[in-house]
Amino acid sequence: RNNRRVLEYHSDIERLNAPFLAIYESLIPTEEEKAKQKRLLTSLEKLVNKEWPSARLFLYGSCANSFGVSNSDIDVCLEIEDSDISKSEILLKLADMLHSDNLQNVQALTRARVPIVKLMDPDTGISCDICINNVLAVVNTKLLRDYAQIDARLRQLAFIVKHWAKKRRVNETYQGTLSSYAYVLMCIHFLQTRKPAILPCLQEMHATYTVTVDDIECAYFDRVEDLRDFGSRNIESIAQLVWAFFDYWAYRHDYANAVISVRTGSIISKRAKDWTRRIGNDRHLICIEDPFEVSHDLGRVVDKHSIKTLREEFERAAHIMQFDPDPCVKLFEPY
Ligand code: ATP
Ligand code: MG
Repeated sequence: RNNRRVLEYHSDIERLNAPFLAIYESLIPTEEEKAKQKRLLTSLEKLVNKEWPSARLFLYGSCANSFGVSNSDIDVCLEIEDSDISKSEILLKLADMLHSDNLQNVQALTRARVPIVKLMDPDTGISCDICINNVLAVVNTKLLRDYAQIDARLRQLAFIVKHWAKKRRVNETYQGTLSSYAYVLMCIHFLQTRKPAILPCLQEMHATYTVTVDDIECAYFDRVEDLRDFGSRNIESIAQLVWAFFDYWAYRHDYANAVISVRTGSIISKRAKDWTRRIGNDRHLICIEDPFEVSHDLGRVVDKHSIKTLREEFERAAHIMQFDPDPCVKLFEPY
């Protein structure tokens, strides 16, 4: 009897692969959209070079880490040599130039945690945030992109999780829920810890790429083309993985003691990181270690109200995956 139940469950979950893959495919940005983003970047760089000839612009965030869905905003980093003028002054100057160049909704947010200039390009409708010398974000963008090339299931899972998080409104850091970056790290960690593993731990392998940013050494194995078969011993399908991901965060994660760590490819303890109590605004109610800035908990935005919201949403998703006859509809129902 038990065997039959397992079989029934199996074929039942497998019938969800096609609809999940269809959702994934529908979220992939088109080549046309990518080309538009590149053109905008080039024209912004030309403009910036009028004032700062040696400055360069880099794409980072989801438009460069391969986890961007269509119609996302783009994140741009201005790399400019340290000069006498402060970041705020650069941002204000930049905002002025953009404004004169007919870009819309130009706004300098000089007091934000990561100070930026926001703008909208009226020709393409693309919105864009520009930050300054945020090299660490450019490096973590590369790490995510490299992981995505190892096994196609990572990108599929992360698109579905991000889509779910946006629809259910648990992807809003200013409301105390998690960033897209945090969700992608959760997906990477989850696939690192499947048995057999679907993803390796690149930072535990010998380093083929090393940069030092603000005293932080970022080093990992980046010849990912050599790892294309890594996950092939694990044949779990996308439907099974979506089910298991929500099941993990609903019922299996040890919120009281565990920190998920992509850097080590394992769970580490809150005690080892001294993340056991609230310090200032950092409550550590769900702990996600940044792969490079290891003192940075990406769950620190989560407070006692939003942890409840988050966990209820994980449980809702797990329940739907387990029992709903049509989970692909119910899962993404707008909150
Ligand atoms: P989305 O598709 O939702 O825009 P995103 O990956 O671009 O996803 P953003 O919140 O726009 O997410 O963040 C842009 C980038 O900034 C991230 O990809 C990451 O490189 C970096 N980043 C964001 N939040 C953090 C953080 N808390 N710590 C370190 N880096 C971060
Ligand atoms: Mg973004």
